[in-house]
Amino acid sequence: MPATRLMPTEEGRDLIDLTREICAKELLPRVDEAERRAATSPELPREAFRTLGRAGLLSLPYPEEFGGGGQPYEVYLQVVEEIASAWMSVAVGVSVHSLTCYPVAQFGTDEQRAALLPAMLSGDQLGAYCLSERGSGSDVASMTTKATPVDDGAGDDLTGSAAGQGPGGSAYSVKGTKAWISHAGHADFYTCFVRTSDDGGRGLSCFVVPGDAAGLSFGAPEKKMGLHCDTVSEVHFDGVEVGSDRLVGEPGQGMAIALSALDSGRLGIAAAATGLAQAALDRAVAYANEREQFGRPIAAFQGMAFLIADMEAAVTSARAAYLHAARLRDAGRPFSKEAAVAKLVATDNAMRVTTDAVQVLGGAGYTQDFPVERFMREAKVTQIFEGTNQIQRLVISRHLLHRPATRS
Ligand SMILES: Cc1cc2nc3c(=O)[nH]c(=O)nc-3n(C[C@H](O)[C@H](O)[C@H](O)COP(=O)(O)OP(=O)(O)OC[C@H]3O[C@@H](n4cnc5c(N)ncnc54)[C@H](O)[C@@H]3O)c2cc1C
Repeated sequence: MPATRLMPTEEGRDLIDLTREICAKELLPRVDEAERRAATSPELPREAFRTLGRAGLLSLPYPEEFGGGGQPYEVYLQVVEEIASAWMSVAVGVSVHSLTCYPVAQFGTDEQRAALLPAMLSGDQLGAYCLSERGSGSDVASMTTKATPVDDGAGDDLTGSAAGQGPGGSAYSVKGTKAWISHAGHADFYTCFVRTSDDGGRGLSCFVVPGDAAGLSFGAPEKKMGLHCDTVSEVHFDGVEVGSDRLVGEPGQGMAIALSALDSGRLGIAAAATGLAQAALDRAVAYANEREQFGRPIAAFQGMAFLIADMEAAVTSARAAYLHAARLRDAGRPFSKEAAVAKLVATDNAMRVTTDAVQVLGGAGYTQDFPVERFMREAKVTQIFEGTNQIQRLVISRHLLHRPATRS
């Protein structure tokens, strides 16, 4: 059953209707087969992203003057939730793409916004977010991929597809390897965080690297438990030359940019996890009403009915948590703690609800004849990426314990 939504605007309501139509016509008929195929032969469903891009659903929270949808975060996230109910890998891809545009939109110069954002938000392009490394996951400040200044460049090519050089010919040479990168090898641009000085977390900087830059190569796709159409692999930078005009923010500002981007990105993951949990709940309800044991539908047994009531409570509270954080963000209020709470609640709830959905379906739930076993595998990773749920607890507790307690 579609979730009941209170959209803030008529336009928001239209966008949800459009999303539901695309999900029903374009995503739901393909998801099972595509995920099954990608389990053995990882493949990014680029056509699904093109469909969403053509409908304007890949750029919703960004300003209209640069080609974005100009929508409140509250609307964008509910669109992500709807997509996740149909195809989780695609919803995660939409959220990741949105994350990759954030540094330029929020921290870029006017020139960078004008030159880079229209293509990034065109609906044709897909970005990758390069933060993690093999040795640097939760501990972002320990990353080793390094950008070293080189001064032999000439000319400024910010709008071109090549990496180019900055004004006056200044450029950086990037060397190192990023790991676990969604869309690696398929992305049109790579929003990267690299070391520009040895000063720990204060020595990181953010660059936007074009997908066709010389010296960029990719590892074999990771063989994962699920979310197979979210293709993930290493990104190797072998002396990739990047113009200083592709440096976003100041040198050394990378950590602050990455964390700020993740506050918003975590809400995308929270919304996607909520959509996945809703899909699992819907399957469980349908099955419980239909399946008969002891001469009655299993829904008639209080043990089942209460399990389903708890699933509904978990989905509804996850949705409330991400919407609360989104509304703070839309109002220009601080929302970092609330984003961490939403990510923690929504993804832990998605894990529980999808596991319970398998239980409701009994033996059938443990087979590939029904999608709930896939939902359960897909839920697991939401507790891990964009900051594990241990890291969310660290963020939340730091807000509470390192500041005077306040009530709002
Ligand atoms: C499918 C998938 C897609 C991904 N996509 C991207 C992407 O597009 N871009 C990108 O940059 N990264 C991506 N990642 C990487 C992801 O963000 C990291 O896996 C995640 O941040 C955790 O890092 P790690 O795997 O190195 O785990 P580690 O940091 O090694 O953590 C291992 C365990 O230790 C715990 N732990 C670590 N530090 C603490 C602490 N201080 N207190 C308590 N517990 C702690 C963790 O919670 C975890 O349980 C992706 C990962 C996956 C699986």
